[in-house]
Amino acid sequence: MIEPSEEQKILLDNLKRAVKEKIAPVAAETDRKGTFNWDIASLFWDLGLFQITLPEEYDGWPQTPCHTLCLCIEEIAKACASSALMLLIQAVGSFPLLSAGNQKQKKKYLPRISQGRELIAYLVTEPAAGSDVQAILSTARRTHGHYILNGRKTFATNGAIAGIYSVLAKTGEKELSFFIVDRQQEGVSIGKIEEKCGFRGSNTAEVILEDVQVPQDNLLGKPGDGFAIAMMDFDMSRPAVAALALGISAGAVSYALDYAMDRITFGKP
Ligand SMILES: Cc1cc2nc3c(=O)[nH]c(=O)nc-3n(C[C@H](O)[C@H](O)[C@H](O)COP(=O)(O)OP(=O)(O)OC[C@H]3O[C@@H](n4cnc5c(N)ncnc54)[C@H](O)[C@@H]3O)c2cc1C
Repeated sequence: MIEPSEEQKILLDNLKRAVKEKIAPVAAETDRKGTFNWDIASLFWDLGLFQITLPEEYDGWPQTPCHTLCLCIEEIAKACASSALMLLIQAVGSFPLLSAGNQKQKKKYLPRISQGRELIAYLVTEPAAGSDVQAILSTARRTHGHYILNGRKTFATNGAIAGIYSVLAKTGEKELSFFIVDRQQEGVSIGKIEEKCGFRGSNTAEVILEDVQVPQDNLLGKPGDGFAIAMMDFDMSRPAVAALALGISAGAVSYALDYAMDRITFGKP
């Protein structure tokens, strides 16, 4: 195990307090209601958690962003899996912009997801393309100065509430590309909101793209870079998904232990 740095220890101490006082007390209710908790989102911006993977000038963690993200996600997941997923997906959604965006794109969108406190969602999965990312059917057709996006994205975490999307679409027969898309853009609509067994406080939505006119400037990297960006994003996020699972199991063991030590059976705890 990598020993947390002094800065990480301070962040984790603050986070543990916030989890105990503000997240754990509402976790069961959030799960029961199945609604997104904006108070917790605000808390994550206040604590600087949503900013962890951003560049330093946007309050990011320049040294060890992924490790810091994993530590925080694990801690939050001990009390509330939906809140931990909220943090994870903000990092996943912003990764294409961070890794492939040019300075102009970063200057335009990073202030919105840091000081502007907007959520950014990751629109890759489709009804017939999950693990097999290359099977996506969404298309981005190039016209004069624009791309026209069409397709149906499923299971998009925060899909119905994020202001910005990272969208993967086909720009050629075997060519995938990422685009930054504003949710307010004409042609974007929200479809089915998933009723889930778990992560119920996390918004999981279908997002429909119908002739969405996206400026050419919103292409991230070069045409055809999309698959590599998606794979690099998975490389970044898989340890964080594992940290989330670790946190959920640690939380479950802790709750079970507390209960076992508390209840009386056969005359003793
Ligand atoms: C809560 C939640 C939030 C999500 N959020 C997002 C999001 O924000 N953005 C987004 O784009 N997507 C999101 N997803 C979708 C998620 O990324 C997909 O569910 C995932 O990629 C798997 O795709 P699938 O569900 O189609 O399963 P499949 O790809 O059909 O896989 C089903 C099972 O088969 C296994 N499998 C698949 N291929 C093979 C193979 N070749 N060999 C052996 N085994 C195989 C898989 O491991 C899995 O166990 C979310 C999903 C959930 C449940």
